[in-house]
Amino acid sequence: MSATEAAGLVFETVIGLEVHAELATRTKLFCGCPNRYGAPPNSAVCPVCLGLPGVLPVPNRRAVELLILAGRALGCEIARLSKFDRKNYFYPDMPKNFQTSQYDMPLAEHGALEFEVGSRVHRVRIHRIHLEEDAGKSVHVAEGRQDVAGRLGDSDYTLVDYNRAGVPLLEIVSEPDLRAPEEAAAYLEALRDLLRWLEVSDCKMEEGSLRCDANVSLRARGSLELGTKVEIKNMNSFRSVSSALAFEVVRQREVLERGDRVVQETRTWDEERGVTVSMRGKEHAHDYRYFPEPDLAVLVVDRQWLDQVDASIPELPAARARRYRQDPGLTPAQASWMTSSRSQADFFEAAGGTLEVATWMANELSRLARESGIDLAQGRLRPQALAEVLALVNRGTISNKGGRELLEHLFREGGEPAELVERLGLAQISGEDALQEEVLAVLQDHPQAVEEFRSGKDKALNVLVGQLMKRTRGRANPQVARRLLAQAALRGEEG
Ligand code: ADP
Ligand code: ZN
Ligand code: MG
Repeated sequence: MSATEAAGLVFETVIGLEVHAELATRTKLFCGCPNRYGAPPNSAVCPVCLGLPGVLPVPNRRAVELLILAGRALGCEIARLSKFDRKNYFYPDMPKNFQTSQYDMPLAEHGALEFEVGSRVHRVRIHRIHLEEDAGKSVHVAEGRQDVAGRLGDSDYTLVDYNRAGVPLLEIVSEPDLRAPEEAAAYLEALRDLLRWLEVSDCKMEEGSLRCDANVSLRARGSLELGTKVEIKNMNSFRSVSSALAFEVVRQREVLERGDRVVQETRTWDEERGVTVSMRGKEHAHDYRYFPEPDLAVLVVDRQWLDQVDASIPELPAARARRYRQDPGLTPAQASWMTSSRSQADFFEAAGGTLEVATWMANELSRLARESGIDLAQGRLRPQALAEVLALVNRGTISNKGGRELLEHLFREGGEPAELVERLGLAQISGEDALQEEVLAVLQDHPQAVEEFRSGKDKALNVLVGQLMKRTRGRANPQVARRLLAQAALRGEEG
């Protein structure tokens, strides 16, 4: 497209994501080595995952099941027959010189993920999901120079840790259905939530158990043809996914508006500088010399196995959200928040699943969770204890404010609600005898407000109630206090 042609055009952004998630299996994909993050370097390796001569791979049944589980939850067709292929290339972190992956017969295809951005529901089609092994990890070291550590070109030497080599990975390839950087980040979050819900992967972007390559192109709005795409790698957070894409959209628009062509290539996201940098030209499937893995038989998923996995699918978040909208009647936004993790939804139900529980979770608990940087259900507070706190508030044993205080204590330190009410002195003073003395003291100290109230100014009573709450440090039952103050002021008991 020429500069003049491009000048008048409104561009549409087109994005497709390739997402890798490390499967939460006990062992690796083709050997019995533990699949564990953070073990000492090269402590979880064996002849199979090191690619030593004369060894044979044995597929991990659980890894296949986890892929089927994810595939079913995403509405994919599961292939009765699929196979493994070798993807050949050299890199020091890959001891076999090929990655065992799936090329033209993946395990799952043709699904979709629905998710919300604001109140709009988006639907992104899933092209395919396949199983493959992870590579090891290169650590580029620059002695005494922290600033260049991590970059191959600037480093003195490179260490390789093969613990990750052979860890099972799920690759989920979307169709190019995303239309904005924020939409792409929202899709990725929804996918993470779903994979976590299914306990397929822990999906920690910061530990690399969830990774994403983003493909992006521009085209004239209204055009049905796809533009030339660029693939972006090396984004380590949801924010960097949307920042990298946003940068790339602007860069490509400037290229097109100059009358140039976008070069099809792989670019890397430089988090520090906030730019994408050209890494290499586009590689093609034929570059990898894919061929069927001769050491592994064709993978057969029969009806019986499929039924067995199906029977283990938990109620999915979308179904739960629908249920919560009906009973107890959460709003769509509340229901989708409540089902953002399974532990949170389970907590909600275990605490009674009422509207009141939802309100306290959304306000108090989510604030406490945010402050401590943990999941709401990970605090010390048991769901039954939340139910007890609400009962104490409803019975008037403690005030709303006391309830919040109690909850905070329970969340941070745990304990028994009833016992804590005693120990923290949170019980409301509702007994008339107990309050009478305080009532008289307030009336004596504020004769003017008493006078005003007597002459018909109802608002003056608020002043007196406020003073009484202050004297009792918020522990007086406000309804009882109000009634006692009004009666006493009208009877003229202050003097
Ligand atoms: P490749 O052959 O380069 O691997 P694929 O067709 O397999 O490309 O697609 C890889 C990913 O890129 C998919 O997620 C797909 O949705 C996305 N994609 C493909 N073409 C485009 C495009 N023109 N613009 C944006 N994303 C695209
Ligand atoms: Zn091994
Ligand atoms: Mg591809």
